[in-house]
Amino acid sequence: MKDKFCLDLTLAELTLWCEKREVPKYRASQIYGWLSSGCVKTEDMTNVPKNIRAMLEEDFIFGGFELREHLVSKIDGTEKFVFGLYDGNIIETVAMRYKPGISVCVSSQAGCRMGCAFCASAKIAFGRSLSAGEILAQVAVTQKLIGERIRSVVIMGIGEPFDNYDNVLGFIRLANDPEGLNLGARHITLSTCGLVPKIEQFTREGLQVNLSISLHAPNDELRKKLMPVAKAYSIEELMRACREYTEKTKRRITFEYSLFAGVNDTPQCAAELVKLLKGGLYHVNLIAANKVPGTVFTSASPAKVKQFRDILESGGINATIRREMGSDIMAACGQLRRGKIEAEQ
Ligand code: SF4
Repeated sequence: MKDKFCLDLTLAELTLWCEKREVPKYRASQIYGWLSSGCVKTEDMTNVPKNIRAMLEEDFIFGGFELREHLVSKIDGTEKFVFGLYDGNIIETVAMRYKPGISVCVSSQAGCRMGCAFCASAKIAFGRSLSAGEILAQVAVTQKLIGERIRSVVIMGIGEPFDNYDNVLGFIRLANDPEGLNLGARHITLSTCGLVPKIEQFTREGLQVNLSISLHAPNDELRKKLMPVAKAYSIEELMRACREYTEKTKRRITFEYSLFAGVNDTPQCAAELVKLLKGGLYHVNLIAANKVPGTVFTSASPAKVKQFRDILESGGINATIRREMGSDIMAACGQLRRGKIEAEQ
């Protein structure tokens, strides 16, 4: 039975495959080039003979990544792509335009098991985890569709990356390959809701990837109301893992903090957050939370967001108010939910 998606293949694996199938070795780089450029159908590999394409089809999974929806934000040009996978699962990928270049937000799973109260991805049935190649394909296919080089990737779309640890790490290795997408580790950001044992494991990998933690509350009581993961791991345990990460890797951690009106946007919360993060190699991204249909949460006002930032800064914590991207096309943080198609079913 075929179990490898075409973009899961490394150049070394393709070379071995060529040997096994008695295909000239140079075909490996040719096929790898097609895959890295976002080609998921063998019929598009125009310079590869038909018999070799047929052998590829026999041994590996091709297809999928059909574009089910493509939305472009009128506010900032953010583009959302809804892709149908070869087995019927649906995922979303978002391309955001920043001054230094295009950043793509990829999904790591079709659905999410973490159940955060404010998140649209938690409201849909869990499909499955994506393979390394399916995460990579989101970058490669988006790059092909947009026709511009992708500069950076954030693993912040649908799913919890550390709930799909091995494949996400496999993606990072594939994306780094100079013969493939050639995306530097420093241009990749991984965002977790705080699976402590996986943060500890990630610390030991010694990767140059940026780590971001969705915090959203400065204490356990409040965090448990927003994020079920807080019932498994206390803030104390989480902060211990974060300290260990920054001490061992010398790399900064960014904490994502979405501000919900009347829930976690008070001056008391900001003061608690100062105490929690003081002295660490940390940065805080403040996000005026996006409206998510089907949840009770509403955005904190711009004045509240600014007040929160000011309290953090006067307490010595670096904080940035993050610009909303694609909120009019349901492409912003917490809004991804496998497209209009699924929502209407
Ligand atoms: S916020 Fe992230 S971890 Fe939480 S349910 Fe949504 S996708 Fe999953």
